[in-house]
Parts: sequence; structure tokens; C-alpha cells
Amino acid sequence: MNTLLPTSIAGSLPKPAWLAQPETLWSPWKLQGAELVEGKQDALRLALQNQRQSGIDIISDGEQSRQHFVTTFIEQLNGVDFKKRKTVKIRNRYEASVPMVVDEVTRPSSVFVEDAKFLRKLTKQPIKWALPGPMTMVDTLFDDHYKNRGALAWEFAKLLNQEAKELEAAGVDIIQFDEPAFNVFFDEVNDWGIAALERAAEGLKCETAVHICYGYGIKANTDWKKTLGSEWRQYEDVFPKLQSSTIDIVSLECQNSRVPMDLIELIRGKKVMVGAIDVATNTIETPEEVADTLRKVLQFVDADKLYPSTNCGMTPLSRTVAEGKMQVLSAGAAIVRGELG
Ligand SMILES: [Zn+2]
Repeated sequence: MNTLLPTSIAGSLPKPAWLAQPETLWSPWKLQGAELVEGKQDALRLALQNQRQSGIDIISDGEQSRQHFVTTFIEQLNGVDFKKRKTVKIRNRYEASVPMVVDEVTRPSSVFVEDAKFLRKLTKQPIKWALPGPMTMVDTLFDDHYKNRGALAWEFAKLLNQEAKELEAAGVDIIQFDEPAFNVFFDEVNDWGIAALERAAEGLKCETAVHICYGYGIKANTDWKKTLGSEWRQYEDVFPKLQSSTIDIVSLECQNSRVPMDLIELIRGKKVMVGAIDVATNTIETPEEVADTLRKVLQFVDADKLYPSTNCGMTPLSRTVAEGKMQVLSAGAAIVRGELG
């Protein structure tokens, strides 16, 4: 990146009302067949334009072509039966009916590569593409085949690596793996989670990122956060091993969060995508609030490695709020960029 403090969003953007029910997770598509394909492409165009007009430097797809950041990838794999379901607790937090792994998992064809090619043609700006991380995928399923979370994660990592290599070939500049599960299962993260993540990123020449957050601003997450006490030290358990991993960028939550900022020191040397926008509130930050967060983070991250971002995805927000938040992210980054000269 040539720009100092390049801005990006962590993940999703709200979808247009003609494509899917707004402000809703797992919202069903309102279009079908060829109309759905075209509708998703139009939504991608809008997501690009919104980010561009808001001054975002690294463009994402805003997850306009997927219903959910984990499920949409899994749906395209063989070995997972979506008709056989079981209720499990996701991230030890909320119960959900999830599909079952019934056989060896394979990836018969690419999942997002056509979407990435489409976005690549529309812009010369750097593109970031998000994939679910192996551990978070495992945590969103009931495994009746491998019967070992680490073994299943390793198989998913191989499939993610195939997808990531095709995304790289399509011109994606940063591939991000979303691993909210890293904030929950610390022993497993250190035992096999980071190894599986590195396997997913193996051999990539583009930049790689891991996004670890406290989730969307939905009730199950805000209730969970209330149980975490006054200081959220979850990152402390996984950062040391991440610091020595092959992953280039760590995307984390900061704004309005109880994460003690000095924990970022534990990943000194990595590029850090800092969440300077709270996605769990409709209140739009002021540029000065964003700048203030970035200034504080600069104590622990070298300026050339600081990437201002959002805490998490913005699917549950209104389009107006999401746009407002992107604009202040850019404005806040511009203030600090000016100070750095
Ligand atoms: Zn997130």
C-alpha cells in the first residue's frame, strides 16, 4: 500500500432492499435465477461506489453476494448435508440449527472467484476478500464424519487454500480469514487453530489477514459481551502465537471496546487493521473520535502498519448509518494522516 493509513471495512455492508431484507442476518434473497445473479452484481457495483465515495482505500465486496459469511462458503462444498441438521451452541454463545458433516469434505468448484473477477474489473483500487476461517467453519457445523475438530479444520484449510489461490489469481490483493472463534477457544487456537489458518494461507503471494472480533451488534453478542467483565483480554491468549505466524495482517476490534489497547503490543511487527468504528450502535462516530482511537493505537503499531477499519461487518445496520460510518472512518484517518505529515 502506498497510502499511509489505508482505510477498509472489516466485512459486510447492508444489502439493498430489493436484493434481501435489510438489517437482517441470513436474510433470504428476494430474486431468483438470472435476476439474482444480476442483482448481486448490481449490489456489488453499489457497494464499490459507496466505499469509493466514502473515501475507503481498500475495497471489499461488502459480502453482497453471500447470505452469511460462513454458511455461503460451506453450501458449495461436498460432504456437508444441509438437510440433516442438529442444534449446537455456536461459539459457546447461542444455539443454532446447523448442517451436518456426513462425508469427506471437498470443493467441487470455486465459490467466490467469479464475484472477485467482476469486482476486479470495476476498480483499480486494492481489493480485500474475506473467507471464513477453518476454526469458525468447524464451529458452525455438527461433525458426524471426522469427529475431531482439528482434523476437520485441517481439511477445510486445504479447501480454503484452493479458493484463496484462485482469488489471488483473480487479482485480489488481500485475503482475509474471519476467525471470531479465535476469541473463544484459546487452547484450540494454540493447539491447531493457527496452524490450520496458516495452512489456508499457504503459498499465497498476496497479503493475508485474520479478522478476530467480538461479533456483529446482535443481541446474542451484546449479551455475551456483558459477561466478559470490565477488561476484555481474550486477544492476550492468541496474539503471541499469531505474532510469530505467517499471517501478515491482524484485524481487531477497538472502538468502544473494552479491549486494553496495550495488548496490541503483543503483535508488534504485524500490520494491524484497527476497528475504529463501532458496528454495534447506530450512533455515528465523529471524525475526531476515530482519530483519537487511531492516535492511541499508534503507541503500539508503527504508522506504516496501521490500517484503519471497522470493528466488524455492518450487515445489521441501515445503509445510511453504514455510509455515515465509512465517511467518518475516512475523515478520522485523514486527520491523523495530516498529523503524521
Ligand atoms: Zn467480525
